[in-house]
Amino acid sequence: MFTKSLGAAALITLLSLLLASPPPALAQKALIEPTPQQALAMLKAGNARFLAGEPLREHQDAARIQLADISNQAEYAYATILSCSDSRVPLEHIFDAGIMDLFVVRVAGNVAQTDEVGTIEYGLAHVKTPLLVVLGHTRCGAVAAVAAAAQGNRLTLERNIPPLVEPIFPAVQAAMKAHPQVKGAQIVPYAIEQNVWQAISDLFLMSPATREMVTAKKVMVVGAIYDLAHGKVRWLPQDQVAKLLQAAEKNPKRAMKPTVTIN
Ligand SMILES: [Zn+2]
Repeated sequence: MFTKSLGAAALITLLSLLLASPPPALAQKALIEPTPQQALAMLKAGNARFLAGEPLREHQDAARIQLADISNQAEYAYATILSCSDSRVPLEHIFDAGIMDLFVVRVAGNVAQTDEVGTIEYGLAHVKTPLLVVLGHTRCGAVAAVAAAAQGNRLTLERNIPPLVEPIFPAVQAAMKAHPQVKGAQIVPYAIEQNVWQAISDLFLMSPATREMVTAKKVMVVGAIYDLAHGKVRWLPQDQVAKLLQAAEKNPKRAMKPTVTIN
């Protein structure tokens, strides 16, 4: 009797172990087309693990590398992220993600112009990620430089940098208009948030395909700011994205043709 119950207990333990640890091939199977909300929850959970100092560091091993070689990334990647190039914002670390998880666009000041918008369109329409995050960050040098220039400070920059940061000017001007009492470098945090909205607005104006996917609820666009001091991602209010989409739909300057044929 004793032996028999011990055997049963061992069997239960073995079964629970098997259930808790699926074989690597199954563990790495893609979540079948996560919803935008599920993809956002995955990023939030990853940032929470990073903040807690308890990253899982999944999808970074030899099995994942092999899997990437034989896979279509569209079956695995769950988010497109537009972020700044800043070395203090390493995306796979701060979201505790790995190979084939994130489709990433990085550019100084997280601006959205032709190259970035084209890459985002690829991430949404072809890599089929259901979520786009536009991620600004605290103490962004690109936004700080534009804020200084917009307040009358002369800056001499390498010749390709001024056109790169040009799209940040309207964001800084909007922040200055909204907060006329805020002077000097104190405007930078407001401009950083406004610059996230600027990138989303530019994206909606330039990309009819993105507007269609968001309107059809195939894709969700979310703004966020990464806090360098604490490692925490602050998620910005979602209703502002809906307002920017509505404004873009009414703007006569919006691009209209979602696809173009090349040969
Ligand atoms: Zn930056």
